[in-house]
Amino acid sequence: MAVADKSCRFALHKARTLGAKFIFGEEAGCMKELCYEGSKVIGVNTRDGKTHSAEMTVLACGGWTPVLLPELDGLCEATAGSVILFKIPRESPLWDRLGPKQFPTWMWNMRNGPEGGVYGFPRDENGWFKVGYRGTKYTNPLRQGDGNERSTPVTRWSPAKKDGDAPTGGKLTSFPQKAHQYTDTFDNHYVVDRVPHKQGLMVATGGSGHAFKYLPSVGNWVVDIMEGVDMDRPAVKAWRWRFSGEEEPFNSIMEGTGGSRALQNIRLLGKVSLQSNPTAKL
Ligand SMILES: Cc1cc2nc3c(=O)[nH]c(=O)nc-3n(C[C@H](O)[C@H](O)[C@H](O)COP(=O)(O)OP(=O)(O)OC[C@H]3O[C@@H](n4cnc5c(N)ncnc54)[C@H](O)[C@@H]3O)c2cc1C
Repeated sequence: MAVADKSCRFALHKARTLGAKFIFGEEAGCMKELCYEGSKVIGVNTRDGKTHSAEMTVLACGGWTPVLLPELDGLCEATAGSVILFKIPRESPLWDRLGPKQFPTWMWNMRNGPEGGVYGFPRDENGWFKVGYRGTKYTNPLRQGDGNERSTPVTRWSPAKKDGDAPTGGKLTSFPQKAHQYTDTFDNHYVVDRVPHKQGLMVATGGSGHAFKYLPSVGNWVVDIMEGVDMDRPAVKAWRWRFSGEEEPFNSIMEGTGGSRALQNIRLLGKVSLQSNPTAKL
């Protein structure tokens, strides 16, 4: 089992050691818009009013990327799976039983649509025992400034939750579990390519729920694609800017508020009681 937050910290440390500069923070670290000179992208403007210039700008904003770059309509969409976290008290007999020495990382029926897609991990060192469900990946379609609907990620950091003004609707923000973000493409492959008709702009996105495992290697591929190296490799071809053809897409995306996966159309349970008293079989 790989621990995502520690992996990201390690990647941050390595990049810093090699001279990469990072700007964090809600204002200074948040891209507000792309910055143009004519039709050429020359960097980004951040929320703190600063402009950061670049010869090549790479948008890699996960589920936020399709909202920031509407040209991705039909190719990528933000979706959300759900996760429940149980806190196991140290004095509970479950502490040992669900610990990593006794309990496996597991998954069940991952490719069986809504009736499957359940997975989980042993409890961690702080007692968190995590069960995830990605059989249905929900969407949060909201009308954007250009009049079109796009699924828009909402997290506990989103202004909508903080200021109580809830354009996202009360349902998601009162979600009893955690919703976590994916960026699905219609064919489950990434999108790592230059953006057509936008000189100076690339995307590296479309993780489709499986990009973490490439953390150690994906950077090399992004640089190769930026520099046009070995562009005939199958992976590079699969990650090109593209649109769904005649074939049935792997993921149906952009169904909007009329779609059955739109959170606006999902009935959420307020309280769930585990009435039965099942006997553990493990
Ligand atoms: C619960 C869960 C379990 C998963 N399990 C696995 C697994 O077992 N194996 C696997 O391979 N993958 C897994 N994934 C998927 C994997 O985590 C994603 O595919 C991967 O993180 C996508 O990477 P990314 O860099 O494209 O986007 P992200 O990791 O989402 O990173 C995008 C970053 O952009 C930032 N950002 C957004 N908007 C802006 C802005 N305007 N300005 C500045 N920054 C911005 C965000 O804050 C974020 O830090 C899982 C995902 C989840 C949520």
